[in-house]
Amino acid sequence: VLRARPALGEDARAVLKRVFGYDDFRGDQAAVIDHVAGGGDAVVLMPTGGGKSLCYQIPALLREGTGVVVSPLIALMQDQVDALNAVGLQAAYLNSTQDARERERVETAYLAGELDLLYVAPERLSSEATKRFLDRGTISLFAIDEAHCVSQWGHDFRPDYLGLSELHERWPDIPRLALTATATEATHKEITERLGMDRARHFVASFDRPNIRYRIENKAEVRQQLLALIRTEHAGDAGIVYGLSRKTVEQTAQFLASNGVNALPYHAGLDAGTRARTQSRFLREDGVVIVATIAFGMGIDKPDVRFVAHIDLPKSVEGYYQETGRAGRDGQPSTAWLAYGLQDVVQQRRMIDQSPGDVSHRRKLSAHLDAMLALCETVDCRRVNLLGYFGQASTPCGNCDTCLVPPEAWDGTVPAQKLLSTVVRLQRERNQKFGAGHLIDILRAKKTPRVTQYGHDDLAVWGIGDDLSEQQWRGVVRQLLAKGLLAVNDDGFGTLVLAPESAAVLSGATRVSFRTEPERTASRSQRSG
Ligand code: ADP
Ligand code: ZN
Repeated sequence: VLRARPALGEDARAVLKRVFGYDDFRGDQAAVIDHVAGGGDAVVLMPTGGGKSLCYQIPALLREGTGVVVSPLIALMQDQVDALNAVGLQAAYLNSTQDARERERVETAYLAGELDLLYVAPERLSSEATKRFLDRGTISLFAIDEAHCVSQWGHDFRPDYLGLSELHERWPDIPRLALTATATEATHKEITERLGMDRARHFVASFDRPNIRYRIENKAEVRQQLLALIRTEHAGDAGIVYGLSRKTVEQTAQFLASNGVNALPYHAGLDAGTRARTQSRFLREDGVVIVATIAFGMGIDKPDVRFVAHIDLPKSVEGYYQETGRAGRDGQPSTAWLAYGLQDVVQQRRMIDQSPGDVSHRRKLSAHLDAMLALCETVDCRRVNLLGYFGQASTPCGNCDTCLVPPEAWDGTVPAQKLLSTVVRLQRERNQKFGAGHLIDILRAKKTPRVTQYGHDDLAVWGIGDDLSEQQWRGVVRQLLAKGLLAVNDDGFGTLVLAPESAAVLSGATRVSFRTEPERTASRSQRSG
């Protein structure tokens, strides 16, 4: 029988070798383990794939009692426990998916002191009954995984996490670790405060993933662009494609499959059996491409994912970083590719306006989107921008699109004024609001049925923008929206209105600089951005 518990005198390094089969600790692991095994609290910020699990698994083995792991990933508990049992740890979990018999078995094992690790869903820990139960056994430590869920400012807040502040009051002598891969300064601060980690040591790893090449492209025909990426750079590679809606996910998977890519869809609308089969094919077969909504990938440990592609704009830099972080855990060159366009900006601004919750909630979503847009529109190094967001200073990386092909900037003040004037005239003279497509038709004097219907060819701005292509105009609108110099109306139709800062552009007080974008050759399929 395998035994994970250390023999007398065996240290952390020996346990690492004997139980987990690794020769050396990585990064902060040794220091965290040492600190927690000695009874200290720790806040651990480490990127995805950095090796957070060992930071609590080994101290749990070294200390007397059971390590209680709080994790919101109920669907993954079984897998985590299986993997630990396979290397000889006594691990179990308590969550709502179990029946009474199973629960009793786990409880008995815990009370008998047989468990090294016990995974618990956060909502269970907030119940008094669970706490009384835990008190009857011996707890070696608390590990609070995905600790950013306690942050209301973060992108993944879970109310159940707020109750975890009580752990310290109830068990002041038991060491706690808070672990996360999401670490803006704001989130870090909130984790520390809300979990009462004021005596903790902080271990902040570098968030850089140097082997990932970040690329952000303008979206035109996104499926063709994606297919080209796969064919020219990632043929036969395993990859994950993220899309926002089930429909996009289904259609994209089908499109890729019909073009010879081994692609499978994954989203919450598929039954559990199908999802489990898809996931296991991804893990076991070579070169499977999963097209998924963001539900896919959490806690999946596949080292050789060669690319992560986003075909819709992520809602936050935190989410983007976490999702792209699933590429290249083996340290080999990998691609993080994102295509985004005008439509993404309009749609997300609209979703924020319509989202439930109070003003401060919408303000938070809006700030998250702005940071994401700033990353997309930067003319400087993507990595510098990304790491800067996580509070880490760095120098241009040489391994992102803007470093490799520095984008040029052009003075777009005049086109910006033309577009804003069109918005103003329609509103002042006609009391009308329109979306980007129609505004561009007016600027480029394109006589559509709608133009005729409204008599918009009489406007003074008719045709004043025929020096730019439709695509260039879409770039202008998108960048104005990204910079907050133009706004999406909250009528739910995606019509465009002036932003408070638009006036300064119209008056010439503010000059506007845009990224120069490569011209795309238009073709038969639908343009989406
Ligand atoms: P995280 O939770 O930070 O995303 P994990 O704990 O899942 O990361 O670890 C990621 C992968 O790295 C796992 O396959 C794990 O077994 C491996 N790993 C962790 N620590 C080491 C180490 N010291 N040496 C080699 N591999 C390691
Ligand atoms: Zn760079």
